[in-house]
Amino acid sequence: MTYYPDLEPCGYFGGDYGRRLLCVGWLERGETVPSGDAPPEFTSALKCLLVNPWQPFVFMGAHSCSFCKLSGGPSTFTGIGGDQIVLGQNNLFIPGDGLLYVAPSTIIHYIDSHDYCPPTEFVDAVLRCPTMRSMAYLKAIQKNAFPGLLKRFPTSEMQTLPINE
Ligand SMILES: [Zn+2]
Repeated sequence: MTYYPDLEPCGYFGGDYGRRLLCVGWLERGETVPSGDAPPEFTSALKCLLVNPWQPFVFMGAHSCSFCKLSGGPSTFTGIGGDQIVLGQNNLFIPGDGLLYVAPSTIIHYIDSHDYCPPTEFVDAVLRCPTMRSMAYLKAIQKNAFPGLLKRFPTSEMQTLPINE
């Protein structure tokens, strides 16, 4: 998996695009891991958002956990009410203020098993985030993504949104 320090522009896109897509939770063994106790209301919200997260596209490949030396970490995580969260394949997009945060699904495993604590602005954005795949969520993504992102990677869900709203 690629390492990015928290709140670093996503290197997948250059220039201004990258500055509007910030990485959170792209950890790697040997790099500094911000640690602490993530607030329980945040981890609950995160678990809900990670069940079948919306993706504009698939990128950066599959992730394994480099802290789990032998196994590469689990491939699923049991969320609220027994919901299964698939780890290592999806990314989570969270609308921020004029930007999006992108976190690998393994973020929940890092919090659970490796004492990771994400930055406060991401915690706040997750707490404010509408229900995954709801119209309010898609609109918030549309409003805060850089213009080229959704045009480059159109999805059927985005095409159902009213234009210019
Ligand atoms: Zn691990």
